[in-house]
Parts: sequence; C-alpha cells; structure tokens
Amino acid sequence: MKTIKNLALVAHDNRKADLAEWVEWNHSILSQHQLICTGTTGKMIEEKLAAKFSSQEEKALIKVKRLNSGPLGGDQQLGALIAEGGVDILIFFWDPMEPQPHDVDVKALLRIAVLYNIPTACNRSSADFIISSPLISDDYKVLTKDYSAYTNRAIP
Ligand code: PGA
Repeated sequence: MKTIKNLALVAHDNRKADLAEWVEWNHSILSQHQLICTGTTGKMIEEKLAAKFSSQEEKALIKVKRLNSGPLGGDQQLGALIAEGGVDILIFFWDPMEPQPHDVDVKALLRIAVLYNIPTACNRSSADFIISSPLISDDYKVLTKDYSAYTNRAIP
C-alpha cells in the first residue's frame, strides 16, 4: 500500500447522511487520497467535498472515481477492484435495519475485503480509527494468506 491510498467509500441510503458528515469532518485528509465510490455515494461525496473547498486549486485536488450505483453492479465492480489490488481501504456504511435488493452483492463485497485483508470499516467509529491511524499516510504491507495450495490443487 502506498502513501496515497485508494479509498473505497460506499453507503446505503439510510446511512448516507452519516457518511456525508464523516466526509465533511475528514475532508482535508480525504482530499489527499484517491476516492472510489459507488454511483450515488460518489455523487454525494463530490458535492460535499466541493462545498468544503473554496479555491479552484483545492477543488482540483478532489479525486472521486464513480462506479455504477450499488444495486446496478457497483458493489461487484468494487469487489473486482479489490481482487485486482486496486482498493486499499473500504469504508462501507451498510444498512443493518433494511434488506437491500443487492444483499448478495453486499455479502460478496464484504467477503472479498476479508479475503484480501483490506482494512474495512462498517460504522463511523471504525472509520474514525482507520482515518486517524498514522498508517493512512504511510507505506503498509498487507499480508494475505498463501492460497497457492488452493490454486494448484489437483482437479478431480
Ligand atoms: P449507491 O450504492 O452509492 O449507488 O447508493 C450503494 C450501495 O447500495 O451499495
């Protein structure tokens, strides 16, 4: 992991206000990293960050890559990016109170984040701990389990 992180940010609709507040609070740190978001979350974050910076130079620092909306495949796109090494940190405020049309995608995204040992926050306090860690702006070697025995297994 490099000093500039690929930070994935996602929130379900009932959690978007929470994430918006968190983004506003942490706007200066977030502007130093590459943000990758599902569609609607990304639109919201771009607006929140743009409102926080006044000059064009500062606004130009904001880097938000928007994927599809979650229910339209955005969570799966994020999962694929994690598998390719394109995501360093996942901040995912999923809704613990409402079922989602894409619950299977949500489960898949959380699984792949664990598989690749990506720091993952699913609520604000965990997100606070991650963003305030000195490792956010430092090099960090992510250790992943060795799956070569699985990859090279004999096919029956
Ligand atoms: P959204 O998707 O950012 O497009 O709302 C989030 C999700 O449901 O995973």
